[in-house]
Amino acid sequence: MAEFTMELNDDQKQVRDWIHGFAADVMRPAAAEWDEREETPWPVIQEAAKVGIYSLDFYAQQFFDPTGLGIPMAMEELFWGDAGIALSIVGTGLAAIGVVANGTEEQIGTWIPQMYGTPDDVKVAAFCSSEPDAGSDVGAMRTRAVYDQAKDEWVLNGTKTWATNGGIANVHIVVAVVDPELGTKGHASFIVPPGTPGLSQGQKFKKHGIRASHTAEVVLEDVRIPGSCLLGGKEKLDERLARSRERARSGGGERVKNAAMATFEASRPAVGAMAVGTARAAYEVALDYAKTRTQFGRPIIDNQGVAFQLADMRTQIDAARLLVWRASWMAVAGRPFESAEGSMSKLFASEVAKKVTAQAIQILGGNGFTREYPVERMHRDSAIYTIFEGTSEIQRLVIARTISGMPIR
Ligand SMILES: Cc1cc2nc3c(=O)[nH]c(=O)nc-3n(C[C@H](O)[C@H](O)[C@H](O)COP(=O)(O)OP(=O)(O)OC[C@H]3O[C@@H](n4cnc5c(N)ncnc54)[C@H](O)[C@@H]3O)c2cc1C
Repeated sequence: MAEFTMELNDDQKQVRDWIHGFAADVMRPAAAEWDEREETPWPVIQEAAKVGIYSLDFYAQQFFDPTGLGIPMAMEELFWGDAGIALSIVGTGLAAIGVVANGTEEQIGTWIPQMYGTPDDVKVAAFCSSEPDAGSDVGAMRTRAVYDQAKDEWVLNGTKTWATNGGIANVHIVVAVVDPELGTKGHASFIVPPGTPGLSQGQKFKKHGIRASHTAEVVLEDVRIPGSCLLGGKEKLDERLARSRERARSGGGERVKNAAMATFEASRPAVGAMAVGTARAAYEVALDYAKTRTQFGRPIIDNQGVAFQLADMRTQIDAARLLVWRASWMAVAGRPFESAEGSMSKLFASEVAKKVTAQAIQILGGNGFTREYPVERMHRDSAIYTIFEGTSEIQRLVIARTISGMPIR
């Protein structure tokens, strides 16, 4: 097991600099254009595929970094480049990780390549869990998956919403209810192959931020998929459902709940790292501006009123990164999240990103309020971090329940 260190090793520094170079040279110059167009930046994704940043290998390498810092470091650099474009790039990774974590070897081998396509013909994938009436309350999910034994097919019906890459994805991963009696334990994930009849894109959302990332409803009407598209396979599902029914009968659901909680705690720091990337980007713009903009015959940073804001911004960003790194290390080291440290890191970093990007606008004055400078976009982008992958309120709920042991509502 890796000892915790805050010193990146040479390999990590090399990877970080490589990603940073791509973020600075390719993503940052394209950011304003794709934000205005509100479209998926296919040419940038293609560039990322050509250099090897858009691929499962890239994620796998970062994911298996024994220090735990590979993923947060990669996320920070990509989202430093631009949050909307970065989400277009990593959205497929989120769906792919679902397949890698729960799929059979055959499913991984068949579907992951189709999620990414090739550098000459790039594809994206979508992970569809949220529904109009099931956002924070995942237990309210209504999309149903019913098994047609005669044909060995699953039939999916329902409406998903807020799906990143929804409707434009080559492969959709859809979470659906297979046993409504079991609540969230009765959910399963399915692969919907390219061109499956019955899956269509509903409304595409016009958003406040991360506008280069496509977000849409996904409508499923009698979507028939082969039995082999159930992630993990039918045997494993039947065993899991039987165990859950048995636990429900004997009142022993706690162990399953803890396992699910550990998974969330391990994935949340990655979102925290995205927020750190956006916050750092805005802070750097503000610091440069404050040193060069003169008023009253001196750079505005000469005023404590401005310099102290920058000092606070930097302190908060570094604190956020430390929380993210701690939780990421705990995940790989198998340390129990006794105080919901993963949720803490996501909560703190996402709130810091909103605050720091707002301060950056203030430091740039009128310029900060225009689209001539990137900080207003970064501020709009930062608002997503306190919403997706569990809102700030839900993170507080998780932390409060964990530290108190009480069923706080
Ligand atoms: C741009 C974008 C991309 C997304 N991408 C995906 C994706 O790829 N796949 C996917 O499945 N989902 C995705 N989501 C969905 C996202 O995860 C949900 O928006 C999020 O979980 C919140 O759900 P909701 O929007 O329904 O809000 P709600 O759950 O309705 O919450 C509304 C408000 O009520 C508060 N609230 C709710 N319950 C409680 C409570 N118990 N205590 C205190 N406060 C509470 C919330 O914190 C929030 O402030 C995306 C969302 C966005 C905006």
